[in-house]
Amino acid sequence: MEKLNLKIVYDLENPPFKEYPHCHCDIFYKKESCYGKYDFYFSYKEQDIVDNSAMYDGLTHKNTGKYVYCSECNKRLFKYRE
Ligand SMILES: [Zn+2]
Repeated sequence: MEKLNLKIVYDLENPPFKEYPHCHCDIFYKKESCYGKYDFYFSYKEQDIVDNSAMYDGLTHKNTGKYVYCSECNKRLFKYRE
């Protein structure tokens, strides 16, 4: 297997691979933080079905890391820029 090179910076749109060959996982993650305020909707009658999917819309996202990780084994895979 090819050794991972963590010094090369890849464009996020043009990664070295779209599936990590070691564990064949194709779900990746990068580290972000977010802050902000939102309204949380709820009902005393319909506790499960109130939609809160818009809560993230008002949050400000910020990248806090430089690396892309494998969601399966949490290995640091490559360095990226947006
Ligand atoms: Zn993995």
